Amino acid sequence: MKKPYRKETICIQSGWKPKNGEPRVLPIYQSTTFKYESSEQMGRLFDLEEEGYFYTRLQNPTNDCVAQKICELEGGVAAMLTSSGQAANHYAVFNICEAGDHVVLSSTVYGGTFNLIVNTMKKMGISCSVVDPDSDYDTLCAAFQENTKCVLAETIANPALVVLDIEKFAKAAHAHQVPLIVDNTFATPINCNPFKWGADIVTHSTTKYMDGHAMCVGGAIVDSGNFDWSLYPDKFPGLCTPDESYHGIIYTEKFGKKAYITKATSQLMRDLGSIQSPMNAFLLNIGLETLHLRMPRHCENALKVAQYLENHEKVAWVNYPGLKSSKYYELAQKYMPNGTCGVISFGLKGGRSAAEGLMDKLELAAIVTHVADARTCVLHPASHTHRQMNDEQLREAGVNPELIRFSVGLENAEDIIADLEQALAQI
Ligand SMILES: *Cc1c(COP(=O)(O)O)cnc(C)c1O
Repeated sequence: MKKPYRKETICIQSGWKPKNGEPRVLPIYQSTTFKYESSEQMGRLFDLEEEGYFYTRLQNPTNDCVAQKICELEGGVAAMLTSSGQAANHYAVFNICEAGDHVVLSSTVYGGTFNLIVNTMKKMGISCSVVDPDSDYDTLCAAFQENTKCVLAETIANPALVVLDIEKFAKAAHAHQVPLIVDNTFATPINCNPFKWGADIVTHSTTKYMDGHAMCVGGAIVDSGNFDWSLYPDKFPGLCTPDESYHGIIYTEKFGKKAYITKATSQLMRDLGSIQSPMNAFLLNIGLETLHLRMPRHCENALKVAQYLENHEKVAWVNYPGLKSSKYYELAQKYMPNGTCGVISFGLKGGRSAAEGLMDKLELAAIVTHVADARTCVLHPASHTHRQMNDEQLREAGVNPELIRFSVGLENAEDIIADLEQALAQI
């Protein structure tokens, strides 16, 4: 048989591989701790001399199986789960940045990520330059500094729906000897594999399509194994020089292509502790089993809804990268030829107040602070997720005050459109 398997097969089969007589379904290792017969062996585990489980804050078998599935879907070499998408982006950056370092950040990233990097990590001594993801290569390069350690951007920005020119970003990052970290939450590995286009690290808020049912907050980090940290020991001392908290081991020497994820697990998880619960990982795994079926339907429904809105007289504009009229149509065709995501944004001719009015009239589409799950939902970022931003920051983030974020679910597309129709008729 052909290996590695195709994505549909990975969604179903990867991760848990039961041996003779073991449970067919991934077990929930609902245990904080693991038993050993010799004290010496336990010591070796603590020294990272031997692989094995000892405490769920560091590693848990249920979590590792699910991380392995996501790793294979992305085509990476190592992966870990985190308690949330926020924790994933925090760890992905903090694993290679410390006080005095600098990050290049795409201006259109998710509001929570923007806040994390621009405000909270600043308090940790890490500065950043915010760049327009559409800027040309030279402008992008001008954002780098001597102390830059990584670039962070989203495949499809939430909620601006800007499609990242991954190759352009990867080229700029590599020209400055730093990795490109891509948050691939909206596209999912079903629609895009950023590693194929030069990204080095991928992060996910598994809370969105991967879970897909709005049940569990979670995150993941995947390493492509392609970035050779050992070429730049001065830039990445945390990976390339002895870790005194682990008897002087050097991650790149001891763990090779798994150095980055091993360091994030053994240092950041150990000290900061944003672990995903095994129960949530189990539920996430059920979501992953149908991801390959759900994503095409999300995209198909979203395209129908976007086309409907585009032709409605009360609608001022529609932004969906799957529409031919979208400025990002070509980039989307290149990086995500099978579809982008189920999220649409649009504005009404009546502006901000009409947006609020429409939301109150919708019946099937629920107002929730969520996006990217099976049920159609709607949100007004300027009054909800992005309310901590001022007007200038909103514009930089590609979020204009009237923007409605509409997350198209898996219901019948005609019913979703009928709901919009009745709500639009009332405003
Ligand atoms: C939701 C989201 C996050 C944050 O994830 P949580 O799981 O809510 O912590 C990060 N990035 C993107 C693109 C998101 O949509």
